[in-house]
Amino acid sequence: MTKHSIHEQKAKPSYPRIHLMAAAACSAVMILALTLLPSPDATATKTVRLKTNIAPQEPLVELAEELVEEQLAEAPAEPIATYQWQDEKVRNGDTLSHIFKRVGLNSKDVYDVMSGDGDVALLKKIHPGQTMRFAIEEQQLVALEYVMSRTDSLLIEREGDHYSADMQIKELVPYTSYAEGTIDSSLFLAAQKAGLSEGMTMELANIFGWDVDFVLDIRQGDSFRVIYQEMHLDGEKVKDGEILAAQFTNQGETFTAIRYESADRGASYFTPEGDSMRKAFLRSPISFARISSHFNLSRKHPVLHTIRAHKGTDYAASRGTPIKATGDGKVIFAGVKGGYGKVVILQHGQKYRTLYAHMNNYAKGVRSGARVRQGQTIGYVGSTGLATGPHLHYEFYVNGAVRNPVTVKLPHAEPIPKQDKDAFLAIAQQMVGQLSTYAAAMESEKVANLGQ
Ligand SMILES: [Zn+2]
Repeated sequence: MTKHSIHEQKAKPSYPRIHLMAAAACSAVMILALTLLPSPDATATKTVRLKTNIAPQEPLVELAEELVEEQLAEAPAEPIATYQWQDEKVRNGDTLSHIFKRVGLNSKDVYDVMSGDGDVALLKKIHPGQTMRFAIEEQQLVALEYVMSRTDSLLIEREGDHYSADMQIKELVPYTSYAEGTIDSSLFLAAQKAGLSEGMTMELANIFGWDVDFVLDIRQGDSFRVIYQEMHLDGEKVKDGEILAAQFTNQGETFTAIRYESADRGASYFTPEGDSMRKAFLRSPISFARISSHFNLSRKHPVLHTIRAHKGTDYAASRGTPIKATGDGKVIFAGVKGGYGKVVILQHGQKYRTLYAHMNNYAKGVRSGARVRQGQTIGYVGSTGLATGPHLHYEFYVNGAVRNPVTVKLPHAEPIPKQDKDAFLAIAQQMVGQLSTYAAAMESEKVANLGQ
């Protein structure tokens, strides 16, 4: 491809997003990119390095074009075809012998290959639809490639008088992109319009789901900005990568999330100040459940018909619906307790306690003293104890005082670890800067398109 054609291609107006090549101006991203690349001198690594040197105020769209050219100029030539391949699809009921026979080989060849060095045993796992490629010279099998997936294949070559197998793994290359959108009716529609995949949209909703209820809180005019990665193979997107940074503005309030990967705790999202985007507690122990009775300290009891405080929130759900621990903690009680029926009580550190009542039964391993993780199923919805029908009764205690689980201010999960704080703040600052720069670039592109 010539430089000219690239410019023509790029000059088409009204892109819903700027597709930047590895526009990763932060060290965490660079580390990520490096770990995904086959060798430190691979082309994309260079692109990442180049990009890191770009000052944030430079026009990114043009720079991206230059990088495209550079990348193409430096792209390694297609591997030289040393073999004349003959492709054979694995059919239903095929054995290696069947396939070998179709290309003119015999059972001795199968035997010779299967007694070769390396992972030849993988050939026993062939299944319909896969491809086997044969290179045969003068009735002699010189090479065989078993294509296992888009990225993995087994190459078996004849070396002297025997065969030797080698795994060939193509590395996915992360490309960084930016997308933004304004919500008209739903996040999914706006995200689709901006070019985000469904999975990416779900991830976006997950990141902000602790602060924004994407069913109830969304308003027309809410907006988002995302810097994310796509994993490419041979210049084509194979799958989604990670969201590196994102902003969501809901009813005038803007939330910003920055991805950070620490050596010991894996990847997580934090506010630019280093607080976790996650809360230490899920708002509700059942996803998408309807509240059938609110917290009310002067309510008439539906069964006893007396004024009796309703110390929790009731969630209507069918019998057997899984109930999740809302936070990491320890089971301090799992058993029958009067009107609560089968109940589980969790202690979360010194300060917090949660209670789950009327269970049909407990989840496996949930007994006094057991540790549970946030989101882990601890039991199933039922109607044991004083209950008119199947529902979960959920109570939330702070320092021993009962609180409304729906409105109680939930503490953030663990912030960025102390030893990572400085590194994180530097990345966060860069990412926040990039979000603004990309948004400005999009804006000027829109203006330029209007002028055409
Ligand atoms: Zn209740």
